[in-house]
Parts: sequence; C-alpha cells; structure tokens
Amino acid sequence: MYKWIYKQGVKRRNPLLPTAENFLQGTDKWSRAELEAYQLEKLKVLVSWAYKHSEHYRRKLDGANMHPTQLQTLADLQRIPPITKKTLIEENEAVHATANFKRLIYSETSGSTGSPLTFYRNLEWDARHRAAIHRGYSWYDIQPWHRNGYFWGYNLDVKKHWKLKMMDKLVNRFRIFSYETDEINAFIKKLKKADYLEGYSSMIYHIAQKIEREDLPIRANLKMIKGTSEKIFDSYQPTVEKVFGRKIISEYGATETGIIAFECPDGNMHMTMENVIVEVIDGEIYVTNLFSKSFPIIRYALGDYVELDTETKCSCGREHTIVKSVIGRIGKEILGEQETYPSFIFYYIFKNIVMDGGEAISYQVLQHKKGHLEFLLEPHLSDDTRRRLETEIVKYFSTDMTYEISEGATFYRDGGKLKDFVSFIETV
Ligand SMILES: [Zn+2]
Repeated sequence: MYKWIYKQGVKRRNPLLPTAENFLQGTDKWSRAELEAYQLEKLKVLVSWAYKHSEHYRRKLDGANMHPTQLQTLADLQRIPPITKKTLIEENEAVHATANFKRLIYSETSGSTGSPLTFYRNLEWDARHRAAIHRGYSWYDIQPWHRNGYFWGYNLDVKKHWKLKMMDKLVNRFRIFSYETDEINAFIKKLKKADYLEGYSSMIYHIAQKIEREDLPIRANLKMIKGTSEKIFDSYQPTVEKVFGRKIISEYGATETGIIAFECPDGNMHMTMENVIVEVIDGEIYVTNLFSKSFPIIRYALGDYVELDTETKCSCGREHTIVKSVIGRIGKEILGEQETYPSFIFYYIFKNIVMDGGEAISYQVLQHKKGHLEFLLEPHLSDDTRRRLETEIVKYFSTDMTYEISEGATFYRDGGKLKDFVSFIETV
C-alpha cells in the first residue's frame, strides 16, 4: 500500500523522478572517465544555457572574457568566477533564468543569520537530487516507501504533533517528539518493523544513550541509519551501533547544490558526479549543479571546508570521487587576543587526540569573549586524555588564548542543529 501511495505522490509531485532514478542506477558502476566525459557534456549545456537565459551569468561571462564555446575541458570551468550565497540573494532576480518552465518548485534555505535565500528549482533539478538520495538508499536495500523512524524537530508545538503524525503516516514514517521515557518506549515499539532511521545524529545518539542507560529492551533490524545536516561525531558510533545495530552513515548536500555525496556500505562518501562538479580550492568547496537550469548554480562557494580523496579505490567498486571528510563550516572565526583562527582547528585538535591513540570525544566549543574559549565535552576524560587535550590546545593557540574545559557538559543548541563551534562575538 505504501508503495502505491508513494508512486501516486511521485506522479503528482515530480513525474521526472523515475527516469532520473533509472539513469543513476545505470551510472552507478561507470568508470571515472565515463563520469567525467558526462560531466563535461552537461557542463557545456548548463553554461550555454546560463549565458543565454540568466542576466547575471551573461554579465559575468562577458566580464571574464569567456564565451561558453570556449569551455572545452573541465578545467576551463575555473575561468568562470565563483558565486557566493550573498550574490545569490542580492542578484536573485538576475540569476534566475528568464526561460519558460512548465513547473517550478519553490525552495528556501534557512540562513543562520540575515535573510534566507529563496529560489525556484526546475523539475529535473529536483528529480536528480531525490534520485541521488534514493540511489544511496538502494545501496542498503531500501526503497523510499519503507518504514522509517525520523529524528527531527522535536520540541515542536504540541498542537502541530497530530498534523505531523498524519503526514508521517502517509509516508510510512514515525518520529520521536521528546526525550521522555514513555515517548522513547513508544518509539522503540515501532522500531521493530522499521527498515531505517534518519535525522539529526546528535538526537539519534542521545536516544541511543538513554536506551542503553535505562536498559530498555529493544528489537530492531535496521538496514541503515542516516545522519543528516550536522556533524556526526566518531564518539557517537559505538553506542549507536550497540543499541541500534548499525553505525550512522552520512549524506552530504545542501538545498542549493542538491546531494553532493552519500556514504556507501564500505564506509566512503561517494560524490554524485552525475549531478554535481566539485572543486576544492584552499580547502574550500565549490559546487556546480549540472541541472540547475532555473537558477544556475555554477562554482558556488557552499561554505564548507572539505577534503577529497582521489587516490583510494573503494572496495565497493564505485569510481565516484570520495569525499574524505567535511571538516567544518567556514564563517565564524576563532578570535585570539592577537590573532584570528579558522574554526576547523577544533577538528584537528580532536582528530589528533584520536590519531595519537586517545579516545574520540564529542565536543562543542563556545566563545563569548576574545582570547577565551569554553570547551564543552560530553564525556568525562581520563587524566591522560585531558593532558593530551591541553597540549593540543596550546599547540594551536600558544599563549594567545585562555580556556576552560567542562566535562560531562550539555551542548548549546541554536534551533535544532548542533554546531561544533559557536561564537557569540559580534564581528563587523
Ligand atoms: Zn564505496
């Protein structure tokens, strides 16, 4: 029945989805050369399109003395200047293509500060995005209509619960609304028949911890647990695996870019090369969405530091480039007494401890004033680990920073999403 409801929904919402899904199944085992040839072909189409239909890009390409016909290799893409979220907001109308589309999907990204970015996506763009997620599911033998538990938006207005519950029922989904034991028990009961879980990894972890601590009986046979939109700490994995039987896998993407990568069963995040071209320059990611006809996304500075791995051949056989890690968000800098530092330093501090044989720690760092950091750590540390941490902090900040370390701490949450670094300092 759920399959039927799902198919009806697709027909109404986006009839292009089945074609996109079939295509991505076919390209799953393509060679790197085939993928890149395909990227170039689609890139040429996109850039010509943007030049013809988007005022912003026409101006930009003319300004760079770059005519679409000069685009002969993937490297030629670098001749087009990058675009930022700020420009997409400010030049919103000029970026949008003036062509006639039969139907468009309204999209919005919630900016943490300032005005949100709103835009319209053409159906193929949306279809490719969703097909990329569904291909990822298929790697775990999951169909989109399978039963799933959802960790999202708890703490919601109670009046909204029944409405969400109705909607969830339709898509064979159930969710958890609070961390109360009764609620968790009800969730556990439903888990018996679930095929997968998805949502905020910090919530998945939190529930797993509570189930473990209270020794609640649980029977689950999950094929996949997917964490979205926030950092998945290594330290979550042992508890989650023990309680739910699987580790959390990650999916990487954004509304503007679509799905960029999806983790395979062998533990590597494979780039969706059929939909996006990714460049990494000085550690920063730039994404081109090959199907963004209505609102061309070409060399978009998404705002993350990432690491690619073009050497490793994944044991799953896929040749799609591996995104080794998403290190962190660009943006708020760490302010020392004298110097400023990029926030990804924390990633390295805690990674070094693990590389050095220490434990994986879930952490959050807050900065309320210049030259001082508050390290919030979820576990209590051994003396040895604490010493290692202090050594690492001094290694990166020397005497430019004072700090305090709180163990067994509760993290600060701004909205639903958990951030590993939060600065309260206003910068001009
Ligand atoms: Zn793989």
